[in-house]
Amino acid sequence: MNNDFYTSFLDSSRKVIADKSGPAAFGLKERPVPAVATERAAAERFRLALQRSIENLDEELARFGKQFSGKRNTVFWATDYNDVFDCLKKLFKAYKIKSVRLPNVNSSTVFRELGIKYFLRDAKIELAEEGDMQFFVADLMLADTGSLVLLNQSNSGFGRLTNSKTNVFFTTIDRIVGSSDWAEVYQQLMSYRNGGGSQDMIVFRESEHCNSYLFIIDNQRTNVLRHKELRQALTCIGCGRCNDVCPVYQTVGDEPYNNVFAGPVANITLPYLETIESYRHVAYACTLCGRCEEVCPIALPIRDMIVDSRQILLENNAVDKDDRRRLSIMRKMLSSRKKMNGNKLMRRHLLLKFLSSDYRRTHRILPFANETFNKSMKKQSENGK
Ligand code: SF4
Ligand code: SF4
Repeated sequence: MNNDFYTSFLDSSRKVIADKSGPAAFGLKERPVPAVATERAAAERFRLALQRSIENLDEELARFGKQFSGKRNTVFWATDYNDVFDCLKKLFKAYKIKSVRLPNVNSSTVFRELGIKYFLRDAKIELAEEGDMQFFVADLMLADTGSLVLLNQSNSGFGRLTNSKTNVFFTTIDRIVGSSDWAEVYQQLMSYRNGGGSQDMIVFRESEHCNSYLFIIDNQRTNVLRHKELRQALTCIGCGRCNDVCPVYQTVGDEPYNNVFAGPVANITLPYLETIESYRHVAYACTLCGRCEEVCPIALPIRDMIVDSRQILLENNAVDKDDRRRLSIMRKMLSSRKKMNGNKLMRRHLLLKFLSSDYRRTHRILPFANETFNKSMKKQSENGK
């Protein structure tokens, strides 16, 4: 199968990015960029710090784990949600847990990713405000001090942390930065998620009064890590700015893939977090307009990574064979002047023949114009227009 079409497609994608002409080149209106409270330079230095931690993830996680573990603190390394659930069942048994307090599950990606609500329901554990065990999301790990950053915590959240008998924290391997100096920058950048208002933050290290357990979960993030070109996607802090300006997500809605991950960065990571077969198409759900990069406070090169992801999928023969065949035939048809000057009905017939029945069922096929662009221009110049 020839890859020419995709290679030239990737080349033209790279040209679009190099062009830097921005949204206007795509006929899109310029939008006001949401304010980034933190100085741009500080935010970019923060990205470099995050990137360093991702590049040395094994060492950084080990450093954090060593600092955090102690008399009252225990770390569990979990490959996937099965590891988490097995461990939780043992904890429930050991502490005779009947009820758990969960923070707002819908606002937490890690809880939705794990399906924690369904696990608790199946384990017959009740949800209660004053549960026997407190669950928390750890938003960021600080490797130098072995501390956890928890955002959006009210005073009562702080009280719970220090007074409950058992705390359980959940985070993923990519939520780590080397130095605790970055906690405040992180807090400011995440204020967007709170409508621009300040995010309450707790930095937790250890409580004298209770035992704390921390789950550090991989759940396929090492698959993303394997691809050097895509690693930076793991430094995304999930502030949500890019989702709000992406024309694709504005059109298709917040969670179009039946998955908790959605948005420009999910276009890059989903095929590797899930399976390539199920999610290779999301690498193409992008017009490379660059709006996401304009608003990203840590200046992630999202378009470069999307094009690199397409390249990786191509090199791994992950592009659907039928799609390749169809696109290659369609390219021949569209680049033949003779065919394109032919009868309008014949052109439509040829086009429909090359589009899959699935595509035809779900998309409106636009009609060809009555006359070709050439003919129309000729007529206009003849009429002196
Ligand atoms: S993900 Fe693609 S389509 Fe969406 S804003 Fe970024 S460049 Fe544009
Ligand atoms: S990629 Fe999007 S969600 Fe991630 S940091 Fe940039 S703007 Fe925020």
